Parts: sequence; C-alpha cells; structure tokens
Amino acid sequence: MVMEYNPKIPTLRPYIDPDNQGFWDGVREHRLVIQKCKDCGLVIHRPRPMCPRCLSTEREWTPSMGKGVIYAYVNVIYQNAGYPGIKAPYSVVVVEITEGVRILANLYDIEPEGVRIGTPVEICFDDIADDLTLPKFKRLNS
Ligand SMILES: [Zn+2]
Repeated sequence: MVMEYNPKIPTLRPYIDPDNQGFWDGVREHRLVIQKCKDCGLVIHRPRPMCPRCLSTEREWTPSMGKGVIYAYVNVIYQNAGYPGIKAPYSVVVVEITEGVRILANLYDIEPEGVRIGTPVEICFDDIADDLTLPKFKRLNS
C-alpha cells in the first residue's frame, strides 16, 4: 500500500524559511541533507539558526545516507481521526537516521499494522505536485 491523498483537499505544505531552505532544496532534488555546525560538527535536525551546543551561527548542509530505524510512530486508522487530505490508513513516523538525528515523516509503503519500532527504513521522495516534494520513509530494500 502507498499513501494516497484526497485531491479535493489541499495538501499541507512545509513552511520554508531561511533556516530550513537548504533542507527543502535538497528534498526537491531528491537528496536528504542535514544541517551541521561548521564550528563543532554537531549534526542538527530540525534546522535552526544557531547550534544548540556551541551557539555558533555557522552552519552547512551535509548529505545523509538516508537510512535509519523507526523510533516512534502513530497509525491513523480512521479517516476522521487524521488530516482529511490524506486517505486513511497511514502512518506518521519519527525515524532516527544513521547520522543520529530524528526526522518526522510519513511511511510510504508499509501497512500500518506492520509498523514496528526498530524497523529499518530508508528515505524516498514523493512528488506530490509540480512544486511539492515530500520526504517519506520506506522499508529498507523494498
Ligand atoms: Zn556547534
């Protein structure tokens, strides 16, 4: 099963600002990039204006392998329990990627009843519209 959208309801879009622009530029190019502090090397997600460890404002974008494991999840089973623009059932997951940060996204290809904490997953990119690509995760090697 693949996540489906209701074409009659607008898809929620990310709010893009100067701090996360690089992340969303990468997504549009089907690349996962993660913010990294240029001074102390801390890998940071969500993107932000300042390193939480050393308070540096010098940041860069580093490519991610895009692999990780499911850290937490929520299954939306009933249509009226989730966002009406997405057809239930679907899963919202927090994935801990190899680089050590956690990313919130949807699962692309896993039945909600098959979702388990610790399941290995990898990034994929869903071109929702001409001007909208969203990062999602799918079972590793699927
Ligand atoms: Zn730092």
